[in-house]
Amino acid sequence: MTIKQRTIKQLIEPQSVMEGAGVRLKRSIGTQPLDYLDPFLLFDDFTSSHRGDYEAGFPLHPHRGIETVTYVLEGEVQHRDTLGNAGSIGAGEVQWMTAGRGIMHEEMPQVRPGGIAGFQLWVNLPAKLKMTKPRYQDIRSDAIREITRETGVRIRVITGTIDGITGPVTGIAADPTYLDIFIPPHTSFSQPIGRGHTAFAYVFEGEARFHDGEGTNDPLVSHPHLVVFNDGDSAKVTTGTNSVRLLLVSGLPLGEPIARYGPFVMNTEHEIEQTLLELRQGTFVTT
Ligand code: FE
Repeated sequence: MTIKQRTIKQLIEPQSVMEGAGVRLKRSIGTQPLDYLDPFLLFDDFTSSHRGDYEAGFPLHPHRGIETVTYVLEGEVQHRDTLGNAGSIGAGEVQWMTAGRGIMHEEMPQVRPGGIAGFQLWVNLPAKLKMTKPRYQDIRSDAIREITRETGVRIRVITGTIDGITGPVTGIAADPTYLDIFIPPHTSFSQPIGRGHTAFAYVFEGEARFHDGEGTNDPLVSHPHLVVFNDGDSAKVTTGTNSVRLLLVSGLPLGEPIARYGPFVMNTEHEIEQTLLELRQGTFVTT
């Protein structure tokens, strides 16, 4: 069987959006050019060195029917919810939150001289898990293994298995892989991704070439850009004179209808109306 190299399906330029109480983000999934990349509903880059871009934070707000994945590279995000959970996500740490039937929380980036750097990804939940019990997986930086290859490629494994190393986030319905990858100059890197899995790369430092299927002159993609891959067996990234750092994320599409209203993502409009009714009646978060 021949290995099919994944080619570029879509190249997304992040859009500047305001969220929360006035946080300026770069959004690559969940905008008009890429509304939904099943099972991924949203991808935000909240990196900024200007406190005015992030200090307002995300005061108390609800979620239902999804998972939110926060990966902090620099600085700190403090969080707490109305169920009594509280903590902070620091540099190199991940919070994988399964909102399930509902949580009400706040997420507040802390003002630091170095600013803040990080990402939030929303992963859809299948119909059978939309009303599951909320669950947090808080992953400290030292629990995330970093693989260093002979080529100088470094890979932090957040979820999924690579080179026999399995990441600390487990039990996620979409069977995701979430890797933070550094590739030095003049280096080629390939990562197997199962057929049928949705996959994207988010280039956030430097630049690299991605396979476009023509074979002659693969396009150079500079930061910040999101590359959506076509189906295939493997994704290949090649650097030139500059290094690159990127997230490589994949997961199984759900293939279910979605009804989306802000922080709620369900299967039907009726379920959204029910959620809004519970919010009005004060029964949204029970236990
Ligand atoms: Fe949130």
